[in-house]
Amino acid sequence: MEKTGLKPNRRSKITQQGNAWVVHVPRFGEEGEHLHTYGLLTPYFQGLTEGRLLATKCTNRKCPVKMDEPLWLPPRADCPDCHQPMVWEAIKNPMGYIYSYTYVERGGTGIEIETPYYQIDVKMPGVCTIVKGYLRNRTSIKIGDRVRAGFLTGDEATHTCLDLYWELQ
Ligand SMILES: [Zn+2]
Repeated sequence: MEKTGLKPNRRSKITQQGNAWVVHVPRFGEEGEHLHTYGLLTPYFQGLTEGRLLATKCTNRKCPVKMDEPLWLPPRADCPDCHQPMVWEAIKNPMGYIYSYTYVERGGTGIEIETPYYQIDVKMPGVCTIVKGYLRNRTSIKIGDRVRAGFLTGDEATHTCLDLYWELQ
């Protein structure tokens, strides 16, 4: 296991298509690679590789839904309620608590994290959604434990959602 907790050879190459990243995932070995674009969500993935967690929020005054916690994470390019483009906002001190978790002993086909590990759902202040991710710590945990976001950056970056992980505080 690498120190990241990810299986080896999971590094993805990135190319640029306009403003969007296209990720080349070496998921199929010699048979080829999986390609897809991050499109309008490219800033989220760019942010992860820079150690920043970016969410989106709706600034449309006529949006029919007003939320006390306006940030969406994972981000949405357009507001689910009024369908207008969202704006990006960095979460300065990304922390939260474990809302629920699963202890994964056997990953499914294609799982890129060494097992066993904890898949956790995190509630963050200011965020209206529950963020799904994985815990880097392998010690026992409980619901309500405080966690802090960490990032795989530089040479460690996979250019996928795996670049966001969580650590116990
Ligand atoms: Zn809206």
